[in-house]
Amino acid sequence: ADHCFDYPAHPDNVNWQEFYPNITPDQHVEFADIGCGYGGFLVTLGEMFPDRLAIGLEIRVKVSDYVMDRIKALRTLHQGKYNNIACLRTNAMKYLPNYFRKAQLDKMFFLYPDPHFKRAKHKWRIINQALLSEYAYVLRKGGLVYTMTDVEDLHNWIVQHMEKHPLYERLTDEEEKTDPITPKLYHSSEEGTKVVRNKGDHFLAIFRRI
Ligand code: SAM
Repeated sequence: ADHCFDYPAHPDNVNWQEFYPNITPDQHVEFADIGCGYGGFLVTLGEMFPDRLAIGLEIRVKVSDYVMDRIKALRTLHQGKYNNIACLRTNAMKYLPNYFRKAQLDKMFFLYPDPHFKRAKHKWRIINQALLSEYAYVLRKGGLVYTMTDVEDLHNWIVQHMEKHPLYERLTDEEEKTDPITPKLYHSSEEGTKVVRNKGDHFLAIFRRI
């Protein structure tokens, strides 16, 4: 429930030093993994982009605690590394503008969201029309939204709503294929690994903030 969440009134009130021990004054979070689960993809992001800050947002207490412990362990094991990733327990459907300023983010990831995709639950979906405008607010122009799911109906839903929204355009097939992050979307996250293991389908779509 909401009362479980402590959240800042304004992004200026966030003490990012608590998340990123070596953060410099000119650095800010640029990548957000929404519903990061156990953090596999977040770790990969940290390795791919050592100079940029990535955050995983996760609503479940036990799961976010796990990711925080995982990052702590990685930092201890590999001195000087993994200081650019962190996990925040929050409801990403409610509090993004409390944490991120307008046009702050360069990339947002929605990897295997909403496993229980049902028509009756439209407004609870992490990708719904009202939320798309909120995501557009925190994304910079030219920033990218990555979506991946094994549920074809959900993929179609996402594409339909993103393409209808005036602030997003889908990347071409060629652009999606050549993005260096694309291959990681299949294997890095725990959910992605499961789908690969079960030889399931994956549906990828990447959108640019216009
Ligand atoms: N992205 C991860 C992966 O690919 O392995 C996890 C996928 S899992 C199916 C979806 C995750 O989103 C769950 O861990 C869930 O707790 C989280 N989640 C759902 N709604 C959320 C919300 N409103 N804010 C933050 N996290 C949320």
